[in-house]
Amino acid sequence: MKVFKFGGTSVGSPENMRSVMKIITDGEPKVVVLSAMSGTTNTLVEISNQLYAGNKEAAKTIIADLKKKYDQVVEELYQTDAFKTKGQVVVEDRFGVLYAQTEGDFNAEKEQINLAQGELISTALVTYLLQETGYKAALLPALDFMRIDADKQADMPAIKKLVKPVLEAAGKQDIYITQGFICRNAENQIDNLQRGGSDYTATLLGAAIDAEEVEIWTDIDGIHNNDPRFVENTKRIDNLLFAEAAELAYFGAKILHPLTVLPAKEANIPVRLKNTMNPSDPGTLISNDKTISGLKAVAAKDGITAIKIRSGRMLMAYGFLRKVFEIFEKYKTSIDMITTSEVAISLTIDNNKNLESIIGELSILGDVEIDKNQTIVCVVGDMISEEKVFSKQVFEALEGIPVRMISYGGSRYNVSILIDSEFKKQTLQQISKKLFN
Ligand code: ASP
Ligand code: MG
Repeated sequence: MKVFKFGGTSVGSPENMRSVMKIITDGEPKVVVLSAMSGTTNTLVEISNQLYAGNKEAAKTIIADLKKKYDQVVEELYQTDAFKTKGQVVVEDRFGVLYAQTEGDFNAEKEQINLAQGELISTALVTYLLQETGYKAALLPALDFMRIDADKQADMPAIKKLVKPVLEAAGKQDIYITQGFICRNAENQIDNLQRGGSDYTATLLGAAIDAEEVEIWTDIDGIHNNDPRFVENTKRIDNLLFAEAAELAYFGAKILHPLTVLPAKEANIPVRLKNTMNPSDPGTLISNDKTISGLKAVAAKDGITAIKIRSGRMLMAYGFLRKVFEIFEKYKTSIDMITTSEVAISLTIDNNKNLESIIGELSILGDVEIDKNQTIVCVVGDMISEEKVFSKQVFEALEGIPVRMISYGGSRYNVSILIDSEFKKQTLQQISKKLFN
């Protein structure tokens, strides 16, 4: 069985819900994970914030406005009075829960209950839509099987054990619908997998039921091999390794968080990124299948600061790097790229909050040089299988560009190049021309 996941925009209106229905009713049984309708979770956060601040009336006004929106959705979504009534009952129940949380003092437990209502509504509404249209569909209550442990980490053994009886109880169906994001914690209270957590639900569930594939449906055609804002004719990447997807994640290919794909990676379940607006496009497949190797993509990240520390004391000395790293640790600043020579070390950070203090302490160790407005350009792909061709091509592609740093070998799936941001467009274009055309 496959697991499909649709985000808030995909279920953001009756019309979009019907598009989702079309996609999921292709004759193959599947489990479908849904987010709340777009904007809903943000509104639930706002309601909770008002309640924390003691503004009960303000909270009730926001709840009432949100309810109006859902009343409208129910009115437009269903054809028959019977299903309109079912939809209304769900909306009344869920908003009853929201109003109940406004009574008495507000606390974290009530907040989590509030945040769960969006997914509880969207999944019920879509299940009814399927049923009204004549499909056999059942709702799998995520709160009965999604679990996090006392450290708030996904509790895979528990999820695996709990989901089985839930699926069995649902009987044979065309489609099983379930809520993304929400779960129970070690105290059995309602909790969640953090904002944007529906993708995580999909991969956890996929691993728990040993799904044949997890499909994450969004509004773009998977991952592109270059940034379309700077390069013409970018192409969708057909296949990526999990390791390559993780490298790209840092560069704003935020489509999938590395943590999100971890359960799928470990259980060896391919994850496909698909476009709701263009369902026939195969999208990008992320898997452990190493047979499709080679260069996959280039990505860039701006706002990088390069720091060079030069010290005669570094030559033949040990313990120097530790002293440098301790300073960054002290100021909770993570280092991204790093290269060293015998007497100098260059590294990059993307968070300048404590830069002055960091420079102050580094100056005790040696001469410090700072370059702001730098960009990391990262070429992703399996470098080893094509090493010979690859290195030559990358260096040729960089012709005429003053490279500030280059880092290769940290992972076999990436080469990172640091340049002044003014050369970003040129670099992306040259690499694209040389490596991908
Ligand atoms: N509805 C939740 C959120 O907005 C979870 C998700 O959409 O993934 O964060
Ligand atoms: Mg999302």
